[in-house]
Amino acid sequence: MHSSPITSTVPFDEDGVHHGFLRLPYSRDDSAWGAVMIPVTVIRNGEGPTALLTGGNHGDEYEGPVVLQELAVRLTADEVQGRVIIVPAMNQPAFRNGTRTSPVDSGNLNRSFPGSPTGTVTQKIADYFSCVLVPMADVVLDFHSGGRTLDFIPFAAVHILEDKAQEAACVAAMQAFNAPYSMKLLEIDSVGMYDTTVEDMGKVFVSTELGGGGSSTARSNAIARKGVRNLLVHAGILKEPLTLAATINLDMPDGDCYSFCEYDGMHEPMVDLGDEVKAGDVIARVWPLDRTGQEPVEIRAKRAGLLAGRHFPGLIKVGDCVAVLGVEVD
Ligand SMILES: [Zn+2]
Repeated sequence: MHSSPITSTVPFDEDGVHHGFLRLPYSRDDSAWGAVMIPVTVIRNGEGPTALLTGGNHGDEYEGPVVLQELAVRLTADEVQGRVIIVPAMNQPAFRNGTRTSPVDSGNLNRSFPGSPTGTVTQKIADYFSCVLVPMADVVLDFHSGGRTLDFIPFAAVHILEDKAQEAACVAAMQAFNAPYSMKLLEIDSVGMYDTTVEDMGKVFVSTELGGGGSSTARSNAIARKGVRNLLVHAGILKEPLTLAATINLDMPDGDCYSFCEYDGMHEPMVDLGDEVKAGDVIARVWPLDRTGQEPVEIRAKRAGLLAGRHFPGLIKVGDCVAVLGVEVD
């Protein structure tokens, strides 16, 4: 018998708009019987599909939290057929702290799945999603962007899945989200990801990378705003016309799409997001921090592609991801 320490202050099965919290007891020095309070909105109108919409899985990525806060205010029960569950900041302690991981336990929520009801705060949040929220959902949308250390072209993403019917359903949902780019993503570190847990339950899952640098832009938020409504239309929850524009489809055929830095230094991008590169092109240079008169280290593309993601800060460290390439497909 599963028993999460998290309780919801809002009902999941009553019609109407309900704003409240997922309440996670967290006893600590400044609040002996205190709790982590994760904001949640549930909007339900009769029978129908359920969409679970999340942001703030990482605490320094903002398109999701911005657009989901707005949706929680604007969306009415009358517009909905079925149910929409909105959690703008899944890892609320990390979001509150403006950091990728939690200040409570250093937990990276998106490496903590499926989680544990007896684990750390972050593991308990993961467990609640795995055992309570995701099972209720038919379609799951999880907003990401690059956070403080990465920047991306705006794309919606799905993974290559063993179940080809499920993969096709995910691709159709990604196309409905209709970001400027649509990516079949190759993960370098999929163990513990929310994505994997949701997909293993057979759900339709779409994630995004809509920008980065630890902020959002008017453009990236507009992409998120349009995408979430389109996805709800696609799921049969909203009845309105889809807003569709051209999207560029990208694939990541192999690990050569990723470049990692082997030096500490100052980062000089040599191409910008969306630019095409050929195999062998210099995509970034790394200059020494403490001396003059020394040539920079050149980081070259291992294959041809389009620059889909890049290291964001001006300084770079050994092991940092420098660049992510996507390959355009028809
Ligand atoms: Zn993220």
